[in-house]
Amino acid sequence: MRISESQILELKNNRDLKDPELAALIDTDEFDGLLFKTADDVRREHYGDEVYIRGLIEFTNCCKNNCYYCGIRRDNRNLERYRLTKDEILECCREGYGLGFRTFVLQGGEDPWYTDEIVCDIVGAIRKAYPDCAITLSIGEKPRESYQAFFDAGANRYLLRHETASEEHYRKLHPGSMSLENRKRCLFDLKEIGYQVGSGFMVGSPWQTTENLVADLRFLQKLSPDMIGIGPYLTHEDTPFRDMENGSFKLTLRMVAILRLMFPYALIPSTTALGTIDPMGREMGLRAGANVVMPNLSPVGVRKLYKLYENKICTGDEAAQCIECLKRRVEFAGYRIVTSVGNVKR
Ligand code: SF4
Repeated sequence: MRISESQILELKNNRDLKDPELAALIDTDEFDGLLFKTADDVRREHYGDEVYIRGLIEFTNCCKNNCYYCGIRRDNRNLERYRLTKDEILECCREGYGLGFRTFVLQGGEDPWYTDEIVCDIVGAIRKAYPDCAITLSIGEKPRESYQAFFDAGANRYLLRHETASEEHYRKLHPGSMSLENRKRCLFDLKEIGYQVGSGFMVGSPWQTTENLVADLRFLQKLSPDMIGIGPYLTHEDTPFRDMENGSFKLTLRMVAILRLMFPYALIPSTTALGTIDPMGREMGLRAGANVVMPNLSPVGVRKLYKLYENKICTGDEAAQCIECLKRRVEFAGYRIVTSVGNVKR
């Protein structure tokens, strides 16, 4: 199917297109200039030139799962594993708070060592020390009761990418012990409990089709998340997908812009994976409609060990250097970092 510029206007006005039109837009770079400009106009209508920062604390690289694409998967024996203690995590928060961060993102593999009790203890301590901050968890699939307990302890946001909304595609990326149905159940449970929820997907993961990407957009419409994180699939040599090709940078930018038009209110990060695949990736992600950056607050000693994919950037800088560098990059792109808690503007 052929589309024209009028479909971009329609997408802006209606926040939607028919499946074949969406697919045609995903498949062509003909309208990228107009698409990115329109997405930027929409982000400026909703968020001005503000870019929110989230302090990312990657507190464990241990995981009980074995996703075929992931560098910290259980069966990767070539990786030194680490776990941060409660005190180390609190120290990251202390440093981050001093640098202006008002959101902390605790991210890790699905690591049973951190029982619900331990997670609640850590979350509770952060909540007590920083009542004015948002606490985001990104620790995978859990029973509803666990999510409720973390929420009651003070966590208020949760990131869980669905990665692909198509059952057939999901099966090609994950072992039989995992299920897309459960992941979706988790996302809807989190919403019901009252979390601000983030989801998202990889762009260009092995065997992904345009129809899969359209299905991802349709799933997000059903979920209506507050945050949507996407990044190009990037390969890792210690996974079964070591010989697969990386996802496309340009297609990822196009998907960021399409997401901004479909979800004008959303918090959309310009991800580290975008910055890894192209030196100007994060700047270009912002110009295509993204409005969040997530610098690393993890201790420098463990950064290189949280390697989901190859050549990950920003693994050597101290947090303070990291934020200075990002500030310059964000300003160069034409925006401004703000140090508020950065809630969604529905
Ligand atoms: S993608 Fe997440 S759940 Fe899967 S192996 Fe990696 S850290 Fe574990």
